[in-house]
Amino acid sequence: MLVIENGLVLWGRNLNPEKINLVIEDGIIQYKTTQKIPSQDKIDAQGCIVAPSLINSHVHIGDSVAMDVGDGKSIADIVKPPHGLKHQILSNSSQDDLITAMQRSMKDMLYTGTSTFVDYREGGIEGIKSLQKAGEEIPITKIILGRDDIFFEKEPSLSKVKKTARKLLKHCDGLAPSGLGEISDEVAFIITEECRKQGKIASIHVAEYEQVQKNSWEATGKSEVKRALDFGFDLLIHLTSPMEGDLLEVSTKKVPIVSCPRSNGALAVGIPPIMEFKNFKINTLLGTDNIMFNSPNMFKEMEFALKLTRGFYKKYFSPLEILKMATVNAANALNLNSGFLEEGRLADLMIVKKISLNPWLSLINRTESKNIICLIIKGNIIFKR
Ligand SMILES: [Zn+2]
Repeated sequence: MLVIENGLVLWGRNLNPEKINLVIEDGIIQYKTTQKIPSQDKIDAQGCIVAPSLINSHVHIGDSVAMDVGDGKSIADIVKPPHGLKHQILSNSSQDDLITAMQRSMKDMLYTGTSTFVDYREGGIEGIKSLQKAGEEIPITKIILGRDDIFFEKEPSLSKVKKTARKLLKHCDGLAPSGLGEISDEVAFIITEECRKQGKIASIHVAEYEQVQKNSWEATGKSEVKRALDFGFDLLIHLTSPMEGDLLEVSTKKVPIVSCPRSNGALAVGIPPIMEFKNFKINTLLGTDNIMFNSPNMFKEMEFALKLTRGFYKKYFSPLEILKMATVNAANALNLNSGFLEEGRLADLMIVKKISLNPWLSLINRTESKNIICLIIKGNIIFKR
């Protein structure tokens, strides 16, 4: 039994600050109490915030080996499969280098309070296995969305695509082709259908910038967003450039969006309309996207998202909403048993020095990684300082 006492706990779905002690057993939060509980294992969280650890809902950890390469080139030149700079670097790197770089990124995530990440995994089953191998000893929760190069072929055999999708799904948590510009309608349908059959995630980049929306409109008379929803994708990445009607449709269909504001900034493609996502009651998550051009640090992502949104709309936006994007909202969208602190849920949490009076801003606006005193995943202490 592990007891965390004297902390200010951000409790429940509303991350409500409460001066309580937590009792953890078998990896699960058993109960909260204001009483002192005798225990051999105790962490004194006096002067600290006890918060759910963070969920990074969109990364491409595979390009950890190519940090800051290609800065200033166009988005297509950098990341578009199969010939973008990223893909050239990946195919020219040794397996050992790729694995070492991925391990470094996973450790970076742990030391910046992230306990779960969702990865867009390139390279078919081999790619999935290499991430699993890299992460064997690293106790971060990995949600892996696979893809295979056959998805991008000009006229692939559809029975082969189906077979490949099924094979991939045996090894991972869902499928994620890059974008609708790179796959045919038939392939998109197969991907979402196979995922739905197995209760797994079908995710895709949409409306990352205006041009992809225009291309989609010219080719099909529909926006990328509308098409992705019609195909049945259930986790949309970016939506930085919605067209008329897109947000209403996303909202009606209750499909979550992962916003990656630092990535959109780094690639000079736009500012995600986070305030409008909120007004449309869209479940919004946060991700750090390619490690090639962003560190996988969710504290940085939260601070950038908060201030960018306030500055862009010239309006107040609550830090609580931003913290929820990295915790509760992701838990709901991804069906996780972590993401907020309640009885019966996994003890995935961090103990962070409380620096200012506003606990949510203390996290988003003040916290450096050195202020994270302790990270606990599934009840196990991952580090403590
Ligand atoms: Zn991405």
